[in-house]
Amino acid sequence: MNPAPTLPAGFHQFLGNAPAVESLRAAIAAGRLPHSLILSGPAGAGKYTLALMLAMAVECERQPRELRHATANAPEQPLASFCGVCHNCTRIATAANLEEQVAAAVLARDDLRETDKKETRVLIQPHPDVLILPPDPPQLLIKLGQVRTLIQRAHYLPSEAPRKIFILTAASMMKEAANSLLKVLEEPPDSVHILILAENPGELLPTIRSRCATVRLGALPVEEIESLLAARRPDIPPKQRALIARLSQGAAGRALGFDLDSYTAARADALIFLRNAAGAINAASGSRAAATELDHTALFKMTETYRAGADGQTKTSALLRALALLLEDLLLLDSRTPELLRNTDLGTELDRLAAALPFAWIESASHALDQVHSGLRRNLLRSLSLDAFAAQLATPV
Ligand SMILES: [Zn+2]
Repeated sequence: MNPAPTLPAGFHQFLGNAPAVESLRAAIAAGRLPHSLILSGPAGAGKYTLALMLAMAVECERQPRELRHATANAPEQPLASFCGVCHNCTRIATAANLEEQVAAAVLARDDLRETDKKETRVLIQPHPDVLILPPDPPQLLIKLGQVRTLIQRAHYLPSEAPRKIFILTAASMMKEAANSLLKVLEEPPDSVHILILAENPGELLPTIRSRCATVRLGALPVEEIESLLAARRPDIPPKQRALIARLSQGAAGRALGFDLDSYTAARADALIFLRNAAGAINAASGSRAAATELDHTALFKMTETYRAGADGQTKTSALLRALALLLEDLLLLDSRTPELLRNTDLGTELDRLAAALPFAWIESASHALDQVHSGLRRNLLRSLSLDAFAAQLATPV
């Protein structure tokens, strides 16, 4: 349903965050792009798209410039652009469909002999001077071998473009990989730019953060996302577009690729968690009727289904995301700001849950959810942490 990803034709087509994008373009035009840069922002904010566009602007054979007119706050300034048609631009642009290329690289590795598998790093190289390091499945962490390749290559001069550019597409890395990266960040060679894309920069070692400049891509307003959806996805009915605009949390990419059916399925499971907890709390306060409604078996059956299958990780993170959005909505209802609700289609169900679940419980559940998240990242058995979470939710505060 979604077309293969392509890059915007120019920076003006990049959605949102104009001041951040302009400051980066100005830095490139002035030859002052930081050697180590963290691009942070929620999933779908365009971090990877922007990173490729910046790489094109740095490496473009034609180096086009655009003049930003002087304003009250800023003087007239040249901004770097890219032509999109030169040999450097076109090669870098071939990395736009990152997911597909990573999947192909992983598949190719799976076909290797066991001994060669361990030695094979998942790396995407659209251009001799541009190397992309995605998190390596199945743990989805950037590994030492990948960072070692970065370090080796960083010590060679660029061969066909002005600079060498490395893009780490996630902030989650193995400890040894992070320590190793730290060393190259301490003294990056002059011709090297390292871009780290981070949903949550807090995941990075503080020593890595302190050696990088950080540019944040913030969330877009709901109205902006809604009009974007109206323009690009007219096939989606307006009511669903309004819902997606709220659920995508200000991330244009997430909104355009939003799969409402999968979200609704994950949310149905998340609601079982919450109903179960509301039931347990009612039961503890002596209501027999509620106690008979308690359905632990449904809850544990559900976590059981997440255990099996290759899509377990995807399903688990979809469930956790849905649960996080529901908890946020419950907090919004508690703080009497229902106009900010995201799951606007749930209506009275949310009201009922908000009435049944005390504020302290929702807070502790949000906290527990964060722990499950970091547990997942630390690669614990996901079913174990999910079961622990389920048990914790079923325990009244
Ligand atoms: Zn070009």
